[in-house]
Amino acid sequence: MLPDAREDAHKVAHRSQPPADAAAIGRMRMRLLMKLKETLGALSPNCREAVRLQSEQMDHPLGWWQRLGLKVHLMLCTWCRRYGRQLRFLRSASQNQPEEPPAGVAQGMPPAVRERLAERLRNAGK
Ligand SMILES: [Zn+2]
Repeated sequence: MLPDAREDAHKVAHRSQPPADAAAIGRMRMRLLMKLKETLGALSPNCREAVRLQSEQMDHPLGWWQRLGLKVHLMLCTWCRRYGRQLRFLRSASQNQPEEPPAGVAQGMPPAVRERLAERLRNAGK
């Protein structure tokens, strides 16, 4: 919380006299909410940064401050949550691929094709 917001909360909690009326309470509550929103906004990185952090955390753990900021951003931003899901899906899909291609897939170029290609390359220089 920003120092001002904390101060306001403190004033509300330790007010010796009740506030004048309901409208005053409403205004005070609204001010506190605005401060909270400001504070969360300041904690949260923008979308570009959130995207970068999501990729980065797949390679190594983030610092606690970055993790906190990213968490706040992901609570607020449906687009970055979706991006994160897609990123994790792609990663798991690529990790489930076998290292070697299945038999018959990459046996090299058939000799006839190789021959024709070599022929074309030779003729291309002429
Ligand atoms: Zn975002």
